[in-house]
Amino acid sequence: MAAFSRTLCLMAACALLCSAAAAAPIAPAPERSEGEGPFPQLILRGLTVVTGTGAPAYGPVDIVIEGNRIVDLKMVGNPGVPIDATRRPRLAEGGRELDLSGHMALPGLVDMHGHIGGSEQGVDAEYVYKLWLAHGVTTVRDPGCGNGIDWCVSEMRRSESNRITAPRIFPYAFFGMGRDSPMTRPEEAREWVRDMKRRGAVGMKCFGHRPDILEAAFDELRKQGMRSACHHAQLDVARVDVLTTARWGLTTMEHWYGLPEALFDGRTVQDYPADYNYLDEQHRFGEAGKLWAQAAAPGSERYEAVMKELLALDFTLDPTFNIYQASRDWMRARTADWHAEYTHPALWDFFRPGRDRHGSFFFDWGTEQEVAWRDNYRRWMHFVNDYKNRGGRVTVGSDSGYIYKIYGFGTIEELELLREAGFHPLEVIRAATLSGAEALGAADRIGSLEPGKLADLVIVRGNPLANLKLLYGTGHPSLDGEGAMVRSEGIRYTIKDGIVFDASRLRSDVRRIVSKAKAQRPDWRPTVE
Ligand SMILES: [Zn+2]
Repeated sequence: MAAFSRTLCLMAACALLCSAAAAAPIAPAPERSEGEGPFPQLILRGLTVVTGTGAPAYGPVDIVIEGNRIVDLKMVGNPGVPIDATRRPRLAEGGRELDLSGHMALPGLVDMHGHIGGSEQGVDAEYVYKLWLAHGVTTVRDPGCGNGIDWCVSEMRRSESNRITAPRIFPYAFFGMGRDSPMTRPEEAREWVRDMKRRGAVGMKCFGHRPDILEAAFDELRKQGMRSACHHAQLDVARVDVLTTARWGLTTMEHWYGLPEALFDGRTVQDYPADYNYLDEQHRFGEAGKLWAQAAAPGSERYEAVMKELLALDFTLDPTFNIYQASRDWMRARTADWHAEYTHPALWDFFRPGRDRHGSFFFDWGTEQEVAWRDNYRRWMHFVNDYKNRGGRVTVGSDSGYIYKIYGFGTIEELELLREAGFHPLEVIRAATLSGAEALGAADRIGSLEPGKLADLVIVRGNPLANLKLLYGTGHPSLDGEGAMVRSEGIRYTIKDGIVFDASRLRSDVRRIVSKAKAQRPDWRPTVE
């Protein structure tokens, strides 16, 4: 899915629109009024812990946090027997403790494909951030910074100092943005990279470009110590696929475009029908659904060569399975449990079928398109799981804000999709935590529950390893002993930088934002096609 609004997509070649969008960013988050802490000492008692490193769960554990750092994960007993109080860490004067027996602690989640939204989505940053935090997302990478690099860097700094209620933000500037005219010389790409670094970007998001110019950008990124993400857009993928950019030093590939093309062994371009038009969104998404079937099969010489080279380059896959879910089951995507209370009406309008909105490609989307996409998923998931099994890094990215996908909920859906692809639940959590931190170059600070790391944690009642749906803001419905259907509560606390956020309060804030927006538009109805 395009990593940014359709307007921004086109901006790759049109800097005029580009600067227009940057001039009208969404409202930044208000000053923070949520969360408690950080505390001189905070002890979370009696939890089961999943560290994010691939280690199995263990508990009971008392987690000791001082300020914004984890200082100890103390094993205080064994399951099924009372905890010996003498083994527990002592609460210091002025400290705070929470009894969290029956809960599990995970590292804060890292969403590697988290657009903070834009004017097309029509929602404010507060809505986006609160949904993320309510789903345990304590770090996002904004691939492209659709609200402009200066806006994005400003929000990064405000979040860093906890002036706003938001995850940590890693701004990756959209390659080509902010230019008065399209780049025509490699030196311009180098200047652009240096300019973005000066303005606070930590990476580049590219969508495609003339190869010599793009190559220069990658070379300059390397010199500047910056990272990169690429959505290999079809317009350039015949010249620049995933292998090309990986050799140039690309850090993470987004989605999947460019990978089947690297795996072509009986063709050099996708089998486009004669009347294909890239700007017809149903053509674009419909034909994309037939692409993996055109790639070399697992075990073939070409498949092995591409797999091995990407592994050798320490390349990261950020598949964003979630954002294509509607392609294989449109009805399910548009009737998800959370739309009623959590989907902002402006976002809903943006999702509805339309020829001039990116990702709203359901002009006549039927069985044939969905079946092709299910096959596409099967092949794609096989590659991603195989890559992980051979030691490759795979991360979690949601790309929410497009195609019926809602911030936070989409991140949890991505966890379920990695599980479907064949990841063990512990591998799923590692992908969503430590692997993301590694791909960001931040694994020294975040991504796992270990002494010395920043205190970013997710606290949830029950065992999400047995059922990832416990992490959804709408919880998980099940039948209780009296025969009534009950819903679990979702994440209970999200802790970022030692600050404890009550996730249920964040969720109710979002519901209030949504109902207020609906009240301002009394005639609005959530039209389901
Ligand atoms: Zn995206």
